[in-house]
Amino acid sequence: MLRDIARIGLSIFSAPDPSTGLGEGLSRRDLNGSRKVAFDYLARIERLKAMMSTHGLDALLLSVGADLPYFTGYEAMASERLTVFVITNGSDPVLFVPELEAPRVADGHFEVRAWSELDDPVAMAASLLSADDVVAVGDHMWSAFLMRFAKTLPHVEWRPGSEVTRELRMRKDPEEIEALRQAAHAVDRVMARIPSELRFAGRREREVAHDLAALTLDEGHDVAEFGIVGAGPNGASPHHEPGDRVITDGDVVVCDFGGRLQGYFSDSTRTFVVGEPDSLITEVHSAVLDANRAGRAAVAPGVPCQEIDRAAREVIEDAGYGELFIHRTGHGIGLEVHEHPYLVKGNEMPLEVGMTFSVEPGVYLPGRFGVRIEDIVACTERGDETLNQASRELVIVS
Ligand code: ZN
Ligand code: ZN
Ligand code: ZN
Repeated sequence: MLRDIARIGLSIFSAPDPSTGLGEGLSRRDLNGSRKVAFDYLARIERLKAMMSTHGLDALLLSVGADLPYFTGYEAMASERLTVFVITNGSDPVLFVPELEAPRVADGHFEVRAWSELDDPVAMAASLLSADDVVAVGDHMWSAFLMRFAKTLPHVEWRPGSEVTRELRMRKDPEEIEALRQAAHAVDRVMARIPSELRFAGRREREVAHDLAALTLDEGHDVAEFGIVGAGPNGASPHHEPGDRVITDGDVVVCDFGGRLQGYFSDSTRTFVVGEPDSLITEVHSAVLDANRAGRAAVAPGVPCQEIDRAAREVIEDAGYGELFIHRTGHGIGLEVHEHPYLVKGNEMPLEVGMTFSVEPGVYLPGRFGVRIEDIVACTERGDETLNQASRELVIVS
């Protein structure tokens, strides 16, 4: 999802401070009154170091993005002040953080070195590396910083950090799956409230998107991160940004929204229709629903990722709409709304127990409407556990 396309009027409902991070939510806050998710960050760092050896890496630098909270519980503020966590094979990891942000870091399991406004954090972090190291860099580190590192250490070989971090993050532990399950159930409750509580006809897409964000927060999310409401022809644009189109009788409306609960994302899509659907709408919807079922049914350990895409796509092709299914079938989900593994033709990686991802086939008829049905699925020993359970039927709204 495009994270920033629709932070729909969030300030009205919550104060989503970009600094209230993923990891802090997991480790410190007690969001549901009793339950607290704490992860064993030390064990994760040990696994990471083993993975770094396998990949021939001397060091890994993590900055903004979800890798850092995965390994530390701390989410860096994205700014021109560098935060960087330096993990080397030889010594203990060090977090370099701007002095004024150091109080945000929970004390714990790694060394924190605060740098002052007059320090050069790139030089400080680079001093822990050797001239000819092979160093991986978190995918989301700003290029401005990476270029400074590259200039400081011209003989280092640079690699993308996700080569190693995805190997760990892709396989969720039971606590992570439970967090994703809770987020999924929360959006399921929103979906269930839509027909009785939300009015569509005569209102703008952005107003409906605003209501969805409010319901998402009401059902326990910490942040409503995105919301697509695509009515009529706008639904044929899969990542449509809700706008001023007034929803009218007969419109098919794609609602795709989600947020973060205890750091973990929800992401679900249902398609509604305002008033009685015509036969084309019913036909397309049932093809997409069958594709969603086929995709989920294909999930099992050892099955290549691309096979889930093939299973879902085949149903839509057989129904005659293959050319109108214009995106991959799904994406991994966790601390990020889109992460590995991707369910797309060409990805031969076998699914494993603990992988979590969306199954979201869609059909998009330009100038007319779109239909998408999206569920989050966990791969288990027995096959799929579909975390979303809200009705997938074409629901008539008013
Ligand atoms: Zn999407
Ligand atoms: Zn979605
Ligand atoms: Zn999705």
